[in-house]
Amino acid sequence: MNVLTDPKVYLVGRSAIDTSAVQQFLSDEGTAWTTDTENGSELIAEMAGRVCYMSFGEKQGRRSNQDYLMNLIRMEHGSVLEHSVWNFIVTGVSRSFTHELIRHRAGFAYSQLSQRYVDESEADFVEPDVIAGDPDLHDIWLESVTRSHEAYRKLADGLSELIERDYPDMKRRDKRKRAREAARSVLPNATETKMFFSANARALRHFIEYRGAPDAEPEIRKVALKVLEIMKDESPSIFGDYELESLPGGGSSTATEHKKV
Ligand SMILES: Cc1cc2nc3c(=O)[nH]c(=O)nc-3n(C[C@H](O)[C@H](O)[C@H](O)COP(=O)(O)OP(=O)(O)OC[C@H]3O[C@@H](n4cnc5c(N)ncnc54)[C@H](O)[C@@H]3O)c2cc1C
Repeated sequence: MNVLTDPKVYLVGRSAIDTSAVQQFLSDEGTAWTTDTENGSELIAEMAGRVCYMSFGEKQGRRSNQDYLMNLIRMEHGSVLEHSVWNFIVTGVSRSFTHELIRHRAGFAYSQLSQRYVDESEADFVEPDVIAGDPDLHDIWLESVTRSHEAYRKLADGLSELIERDYPDMKRRDKRKRAREAARSVLPNATETKMFFSANARALRHFIEYRGAPDAEPEIRKVALKVLEIMKDESPSIFGDYELESLPGGGSSTATEHKKV
C-alpha cells in the first residue's frame, strides 16, 4: 500500500477541426477566414463565435484568436466556449475528491474506476497534507486506513466463500463483483481512485474558479491548479486571463476578472 499526496493530471484528448469542411463552408458562403492559431479547440470556439455574426471575410474585424476569444469572454458570450472539449485522466486522488468533482454537472462527463469490478486489496490511499504534516496525526490516520484495508481483504475473502457456497453456479466474474461491492463498504474516503473526465471550456473555467478558490478543499484545489497549468499552456486564448495568487498559509489560488462566463 502506498500513501499518496500528489495527484496526477493527464490531458489525453482535445477537439480537432476538419479544415477541408471549413473551407467548403467558407467557399459555399463566398467568404474567407484567417486566424493565428492551429489549436483545434481555439479554432472551433472562434469559428462558432463568427458564425453567430457571420463575421468572416471583410467583416472579420479582430485578427488574433486570443483577441477574439477574450472579447467573447469579456462580453460573457460563454456558450460559444461549450464547443471546445478536452479529455483528462486524473490519478492519485481520493474518493472524497471525486465525490466533489462529480458535483460539476454541466459540460462534464465522467468514467471512474469501479470498486465492484476492480480488486482493492492492493489499493493506495491519499493522505491530506494537513495530516501528513503532523507525525502524531499521521500515525492515527495510517493505523485507521490500514485497519480498514485489512477488514476489506477479510470481508472480500469471507464473502467469496459465502457466495461460492450459496451460488455455486453463478458466473465467476459475478461472484467477484458480489464480494467486492459489499466489501468496499468499509474502505475509507481516502482510497485512491482514477477518473477519466471530459469538459468543455466553459465548464472547465467554472471548475477552475470554484475549485481553485482560497476556500476550496485543498485536494481539489491541487487538481484545479494542475488543470489550470495545463490549460494555460494548451489554450492561452481561453485560459490566459487566469492568474495565481499566493495563499497566506502557502500554496496558491486562482483568480480572474472574468468570472462565470
Ligand atoms: C467551497 C465549496 C463548498 C461546498 N460545500 C458543499 C456542501 O457542503 N454540500 C454540497 O452539497 N455541496 C457543496 N459544494 C458543491 C456545490 O454546491 C456545487 O455542487 C459544486 O460546486 C458544483 O457547482 P455548480 O452546481 O455551479 O456546477 P455545475 O453543476 O457544473 O453547474 C454549472 C452552472 O450551470 C448552472 N446550472 C447547472 N445545473 C443547473 C440546474 N439544474 N438549474 C439551474 N442552473 C443550473 C448554474 O449556473 C451552475 O453554477 C461546495 C462547493 C464549493 C466550491
